[in-house]
Amino acid sequence: MQSTATDMIVVNTIAAVREAVAKFRASGSTIGFVPTMGALHAGHISLVKWSRREADVTVMSIFVNPLQFGPNEDLSRYPRPVENDEAMAREAGVDILFRPEVKEMYPSEREITVTAAAVAELWEGSSRPGHFDGVLTVVAKLFNIVQPDVAIFGRKDLQQAVLVQAMVHDLDMPLKVIVAPIVRERDGLALSSRNRYLSETDRKAALSLNRALKEVRRAFARGERNTTALENAGLAVLEHETPVKTDYFAVVNGSTLMRERMATEKSAAIVAVHLGSTRLIDNRFLGGDDED
Ligand code: AMP
Repeated sequence: MQSTATDMIVVNTIAAVREAVAKFRASGSTIGFVPTMGALHAGHISLVKWSRREADVTVMSIFVNPLQFGPNEDLSRYPRPVENDEAMAREAGVDILFRPEVKEMYPSEREITVTAAAVAELWEGSSRPGHFDGVLTVVAKLFNIVQPDVAIFGRKDLQQAVLVQAMVHDLDMPLKVIVAPIVRERDGLALSSRNRYLSETDRKAALSLNRALKEVRRAFARGERNTTALENAGLAVLEHETPVKTDYFAVVNGSTLMRERMATEKSAAIVAVHLGSTRLIDNRFLGGDDED
């Protein structure tokens, strides 16, 4: 039974979200889950739509997880537009909004952390040490709290999605993980809560991420398979844009995130850049119809 958009339940304790989910479960409903850090945009809302297609009831969490931020990262300035988020979640048809405080999620020193293996050291992990341990620890906690049948993640954070899938597989967590496509602005910029920090000039320069990824796709479509040559095609586009400081630009296996000598239909181009004090990431698969 799909509930109506107006009766969203908003809770901030673990006990309350468990109770709310249990009531739906008792009537036989399946549970979909969309974890977020808030500052909601159309990308997040697309995940809610996926959840509503896949499950009877949708739980969204909004939690800016301190564990996944490094000491010099933007934890304190991460946007927290609480009322707007609540209105957007309600409008999108979220049934239960779980918005815990930090002390609810981490009441004391932790003894246990989820640690990801090799792939977490690459790319985002190499620029943000410990980031994925923080992500996986909070996602494991949220899965245990909500106990969803299905959880929806965005491919915008491809490495995160790969690691969450690995955790669910390796730790035998009883749920299905869906990875949903990237939602972009009309001009190709991938939606991100951090886009609001971009100055007008940086906003224009940010378009070079998508241009570079598309250039790699074009080179691949023309028959180029050599990973280094494909990467160079993308890097040439980025290097053209002066304010963009490339963190990494790589062509990798889209399931393992490992760099391979030759690219295939299943490879993805992945990129991270600094633009002023803002860090942006994006990716595109080289094969298929990833042409949004
Ligand atoms: P965040 O609030 O940034 O932690 O993101 C919460 C979820 O939304 C993650 O699964 C992200 O991958 C996903 N997400 C963020 N931006 C987009 C986007 N532009 N398109 C699709 N999913 C997204």
